[in-house]
Amino acid sequence: MSMRGGPGGFGRGFMSEEEKAKTPKVTKELVFRVFSYLKPYWKQMLLVLIAIIVSSSFNLLPSILTGKIIDEGLIGRNMDALVRFIVLSLAVTLGANLIGVLESYLNSWIAQHITFDMRNQMYRHLQKMSQRFFTTNNQGDIITRMTSDISGVQSVITGTFTSILSNTITLIVAVIAMFQKNWVLAILGIVIVPLFTLPTRAAGKTRWSLTREAQAVNDEVNGILNETLSVSGQLLVKLFGREDDEYNKYESANKRMVDLNIKESMAGRWFRVVISTISSVGPMLLYLVGGILMMKYDSNISVGDITVLVSLLGRMYGPVNSLLNIQVDWLRSMAMFTRIFEYFDMPVEIENAPDAVTPTTFTGAVEFKDVHFSYDESREILKGISFDLKEGNSVAIVGPSGSGKSTIVNLIPRLYDVDSGVVTFEGIDVRKIDLKYLRDNIGMVSQETYLFNGTIRENLLYAKSDATQEEIEEACKKANIHDFIIAQEKGYDTEVGNRGLKLSGGEKQRISIARVLLKDPSLLIFDEATSALDSISESKIQEAIDPLIDSRTSILIAHRLSTILAADEIIVVADGKIVERGTHEELVNAGGVYTELYETQFKVGLEKAKQSEEKAA
Ligand code: ATP
Repeated sequence: MSMRGGPGGFGRGFMSEEEKAKTPKVTKELVFRVFSYLKPYWKQMLLVLIAIIVSSSFNLLPSILTGKIIDEGLIGRNMDALVRFIVLSLAVTLGANLIGVLESYLNSWIAQHITFDMRNQMYRHLQKMSQRFFTTNNQGDIITRMTSDISGVQSVITGTFTSILSNTITLIVAVIAMFQKNWVLAILGIVIVPLFTLPTRAAGKTRWSLTREAQAVNDEVNGILNETLSVSGQLLVKLFGREDDEYNKYESANKRMVDLNIKESMAGRWFRVVISTISSVGPMLLYLVGGILMMKYDSNISVGDITVLVSLLGRMYGPVNSLLNIQVDWLRSMAMFTRIFEYFDMPVEIENAPDAVTPTTFTGAVEFKDVHFSYDESREILKGISFDLKEGNSVAIVGPSGSGKSTIVNLIPRLYDVDSGVVTFEGIDVRKIDLKYLRDNIGMVSQETYLFNGTIRENLLYAKSDATQEEIEEACKKANIHDFIIAQEKGYDTEVGNRGLKLSGGEKQRISIARVLLKDPSLLIFDEATSALDSISESKIQEAIDPLIDSRTSILIAHRLSTILAADEIIVVADGKIVERGTHEELVNAGGVYTELYETQFKVGLEKAKQSEEKAA
């Protein structure tokens, strides 16, 4: 325990410029809020407090008993007393250590339980955050808050709080004991301790700045590794033949890290020399002044007393040093809590209305009434969208890239809410429908298919955890992927790889169609991939979706003529507005946006497909 916050803790006492700039305002509310997390564990904390008081005092007892061992035992030549005090001293040390074990256990128990609560609360909260939150915030930041920041809380509880307590108690007991022995020497000791901790701080500062520099280089190295050793990063490096450049970049950062690490460890070495020299001056001074007092002034101070004082002095360095750092520790902890609370305080944008209803119909009917929407203030994306999709019908949304097609469909399962106007599902404003019902009954195959790392079966079961093998196979047959799957060595247990990278774009999309089918939604939304698929994959997907479109209400964001032709109606979106609507025949020669799209995109795609089909034939 005496090591807590001792010389090993140097460096902690300094804040970087960045940290200083971000220092939070420690308000009463913040402190109360932090303590509210400790409250449920007040009984255990009380026990810890008692344990700390007892073990801190017990820890000092051997130092005090040394005086008795010397004066009464050795100098008094009393064997009984000698043995008694030695045994007592050992027993006390053992007792203090045993209590220390209990204290550590309780401490870590409390810390773990508090972080357990916080992590769960945070994960729940993050899951409720809207799509906007995830597209705006850096994924790394989100993960850091979930992991490092919350783990930091643990060290605050096991470190900062307990260190303040135990160090303060140790100091108080030591000072009282010193004064009881001799006030002159006690005052001398109290003056000496802080004086000698100052150089410690100076040395620590140097090392701290080295550590930070090393950390920055380390981040750089990690960055290089992250970027170049990822699947797509490696691909880029290989395709552009940048292996040597990347190697050189890595080597130079690596070299800098090595140099800094050597410097840092040597700074630590010099630092220890300074510390040990300086800390031996203190005791010598006490011996000297104690000796002068004893010999010249014939005071009743004994050899044992001087030894006790020297020993207590040695025990004070650590606590004083660490208490000098407490302010910074405290501010750092508060900064961490502030960052965590910032996330907790972000309002949940999209949640179940208190009077949410669960429709009893399953028609998949959707209506947009003069819908306006913007992701942020800078730009309105949807400017008054209105259309009506009746049960069993299908609509194809087409338009130039960036015109707002995906945005329109995102509003239906409430990934975002409208700014004005209404989106209805089953004839009810989506904001009034029970979220679970809403999302359960909308099946969305998005442009970017996301598969989890796992087997094909696991990915399919994500849609319906209790699906039977027959159901799975039926969905896969409908999605035109069953034959591909059983042709694999492990069939449905084939691993899809990191995010499904082991599968082709077309295979992934067909698996995700099967996944949506398992869900059996009343409305199907299909956001067709813009990226070109070969005509075989394309026709397989087409074969898969054609019957689906016929059998249920669907919205298709279409880039290919074949998909467009499968729909009952075409809506042409340009710059956030519906500019044309009708059937292919009506629109193709109208001379509007659709005609242009047809000439530049659909027709070209069609010709290409024909060509490759001919080639294949
Ligand atoms: P594409 O055919 O290329 O997929 P799209 O018509 O589906 O395009 P949307 O994805 O709806 O277009 O995007 C419409 C506009 O909104 C684009 O200009 C895009 O930059 C912007 N946008 C899309 N998502 C966000 C977002 N999360 N935050 C801010 N702006 C966004």
